Amino acid sequence: MRLENKVAIVSGAASGMGAATARRFAKEGAKVVIADMLEAEGRAVAAEITAAGGIAQFLALNVTEEASWKSVVDATVAAYGRLDIMVNNAGISGSAVNDLLETGIWDRVMAVNSTGVFLGTKFAVEQMQKNGGGSIVNLSSISGVVGQTMVHMSYNASKGAVRTLTKATAVQFGKDNIRANSVHPGLMPPMRTSGATADPVVRAKMLKAVPLGRNGEVDEVANAILFLASDEASYVTGAELYVDGGYLAM
Ligand code: NAD
Repeated sequence: MRLENKVAIVSGAASGMGAATARRFAKEGAKVVIADMLEAEGRAVAAEITAAGGIAQFLALNVTEEASWKSVVDATVAAYGRLDIMVNNAGISGSAVNDLLETGIWDRVMAVNSTGVFLGTKFAVEQMQKNGGGSIVNLSSISGVVGQTMVHMSYNASKGAVRTLTKATAVQFGKDNIRANSVHPGLMPPMRTSGATADPVVRAKMLKAVPLGRNGEVDEVANAILFLASDEASYVTGAELYVDGGYLAM
């Protein structure tokens, strides 16, 4: 198994790509903490993994709050003794907006998508330094590389911040055997918070810019996260992996 004896936290694992990643990690032998604001959904993912013979538990997390992060990382280490993998996946969309220049949305999106990843990184690094290394995988997006219509620019800016804070993490903590990489999904099943980008007409138009001509599946992103999290990627750090059907190659 590719993650045998590893301990992982996946933020935003109650839904979508985070849930797919938690399931995949557990199948590969990891002990997985499903950390999310959605308690019922998060507990259901953990129960499903446990029923299938894996090891998982749900812990409540609000990624924007430092104290919440501390309590999740402390509880993880208390339960499993260490932390090897942090997947900073929790996020909110910027496409459910009427006013593309609204300031409140800027603040909310940056708090969850950028500050949330910084805080997850901070607490992961502190713990990984104690266990002699680890792997951090951050969910950016195609939106972290290029601009888009119909999406509040906070989403692009927040995902751009994830892209470069990942490289800063790799550069600053490589000496501690901590790797950090970003994953950039393209057109995927809509997020819970998606607006315009969940509209079938808009999605059909977006698909024209995808060389593979189809949506990605959540498991295709989970597979990329698995590779970067595992020891198979032992010399990969500071990298960005596009899982976008070729969108960014056009
Ligand atoms: P999703 O909406 O299905 O899941 C996001 C999860 O994050 C939810 O479980 C939600 O409860 C959680 N979350 C939101 N705010 C939180 C907070 N403050 N604290 C803790 N948890 C919080 O979305 P998804 O499609 O699975 O997206 C996962 C990641 O991938 C996000 O970072 C997203 O921006 C990114 N992404 C998504 C797409 C897409 O099209 N779906 C494309 C590129 C990148």
